[in-house]
Amino acid sequence: MQLSPKRVVFDQPIVRVSLDGMQFPQICPICTAPAEDYIRVSVVSETRAALTSTARPTAALFGSRYQKDSSIRLSEGKAFIIPVCREHHYTDEGSYRYKSYCIVFDGLALCLLILAFLMSGNNFWRGEPPSPWLFISTAIFAVFLGLTYVLFQPGPIESAVRIIGFDTGFSNVWIAFKNPAYRDEFVRHNEMSAELVKWVMKN
Ligand SMILES: [Zn+2]
Repeated sequence: MQLSPKRVVFDQPIVRVSLDGMQFPQICPICTAPAEDYIRVSVVSETRAALTSTARPTAALFGSRYQKDSSIRLSEGKAFIIPVCREHHYTDEGSYRYKSYCIVFDGLALCLLILAFLMSGNNFWRGEPPSPWLFISTAIFAVFLGLTYVLFQPGPIESAVRIIGFDTGFSNVWIAFKNPAYRDEFVRHNEMSAELVKWVMKN
């Protein structure tokens, strides 16, 4: 089923920037203090976005390559190296692996829960009290769901530098910056290739 593109308007302008030669300024995206360290932010495909337009009317008139290559996708395994201050530096190592383990355990816990349900169904028809396994497996499943929720919360850097999407050729990225001062500095830093965008088209 093909959904028609929907216009998404942002309260704060977001930035469209060419990936070629893109550089993050040497200040922290959270507090704009001078950066002393780096964070590797991996780009995971949790949002699949298709962006078709920019704020520039000429792009629509002349049908630029952003118009033709309208579908924007996030690819897995891509990462940005973002300078941060010492205070907001953290290591994200292994978090990806924890997330994968977590999903596997979610599946196992769900299987356990289904088994326990089947068992207590039997008990129910025989007029026996439900098996304690039903409660145990429900508790286990709830714990893993909670853990998954916590693990998949975006970190402070991910919410300060939120990647909205890419175009299909990976030539441009759309980024929403939380801190307006940092956003302005980022645009100044990439003045040849960055521009502020108010809205995008999403499929
Ligand atoms: Zn900082």
